[in-house]
Amino acid sequence: MNHPSRRKNSITRREALRTLGAGAAWLGLGLVTSRALVGAAPAGLMPPAPGPLAQPFVLPKLGYAFTALEPHLDARTLEIHHGKHHQGYVDKANQALAAYPELQQLSADEILKNLGALPEKIRPALRNQVGGHANHTLFWQVMGPATERGAPPAGLRAALDQTFGSFEAFTRQFSSAAAQHFGSGWAWLSVQGGALRVHTTANQDSPLSEGSTPVLGLDVWEHAYYLHYQNRRADYIAAFWNVVNWAQVEANYTAALKA
Ligand code: MN
Repeated sequence: MNHPSRRKNSITRREALRTLGAGAAWLGLGLVTSRALVGAAPAGLMPPAPGPLAQPFVLPKLGYAFTALEPHLDARTLEIHHGKHHQGYVDKANQALAAYPELQQLSADEILKNLGALPEKIRPALRNQVGGHANHTLFWQVMGPATERGAPPAGLRAALDQTFGSFEAFTRQFSSAAAQHFGSGWAWLSVQGGALRVHTTANQDSPLSEGSTPVLGLDVWEHAYYLHYQNRRADYIAAFWNVVNWAQVEANYTAALKA
């Protein structure tokens, strides 16, 4: 008799991905014995690179001090947002997947790109909690201390000019989308089909679930700003532009074009 943990470890990443590829066939998977899931060794498929988006999910360390974004984003908000809110998404994502060893080879991005193929029972939890984990991981990366902010590098700036008319027109459109989004959610600059777009998602929905790759994101949940800005979301949005790490945004853009 297989020990549960051993059985879990022998499920290959290829099998997990095949589960996703099967789409609607997922419902039949529960009828497949766990032994049948112990497939051939993966050929050419490596385990997810160790990192914040591989399972088990872990809270990524901030690349800067809680005080690094002051006075634009206050340290207390950042500490609670990262240590409590983001940690909560990580914990609940891991809990949702605890009973699904066949899905534990998947990265957060793979889950979010394939939500429709995942078991209905945990799909809402994956959408919210894995989405929350991925969204916040990007959010921390696209901000930085004063030494890492700078201005949009030439390549990104040219793409923004071409798409939106000018950098200023882009920031206006993004800020407007963030301000007008009703309730909790996110404003995004994403790449879809090779083109940049500004859009929003509700709650913790990820752009990845709608075929977009996010390169810049702004959390407009009240927990992101209420301690310092109370109801003044527009002031929080204006302050955000002061702390963007543009080199990281361009790196995300370059990667997204290849995705
Ligand atoms: Mn948040």
